[in-house]
Amino acid sequence: MRLNELTPEQIEEWRKARMDAGRAQYGDAHMQRYGLVDVMEELLDAINIIDLAAERMAAEPECASSVRSLRLSVQLLIGSVRDTDKLLPDRLCSDEQGGERIWWSEQVRYKVCDECGETPARCGCEEAGDDGD
Ligand SMILES: [Zn+2]
Repeated sequence: MRLNELTPEQIEEWRKARMDAGRAQYGDAHMQRYGLVDVMEELLDAINIIDLAAERMAAEPECASSVRSLRLSVQLLIGSVRDTDKLLPDRLCSDEQGGERIWWSEQVRYKVCDECGETPARCGCEEAGDDGD
């Protein structure tokens, strides 16, 4: 089976099947996840997978070049995700149900507070005086 042979209806059916499987696994956790980080993780995985595919195609330069241009498209999408993130208020970007995320979780754990200089585990500033910016 080849991807280019799929009809739009089949792709939509595929998407819904993945959504149903995701719902069964995660329920309503998305209401307390930072969804754009999930999107970012999928896009970074896509780049990694594209690089692996390019390795397989290394002996055929035209194919490798097509795969490289696909990589560029994914990089543009990453830029769009970051542009969208810039527009969102902090309250819609919390990640209580995000679980342990590769790399990201460590950055969040060790990021110090602008006000008190403490890591999130030790900082009490947010509850005290969040002015909502
Ligand atoms: Zn603080």
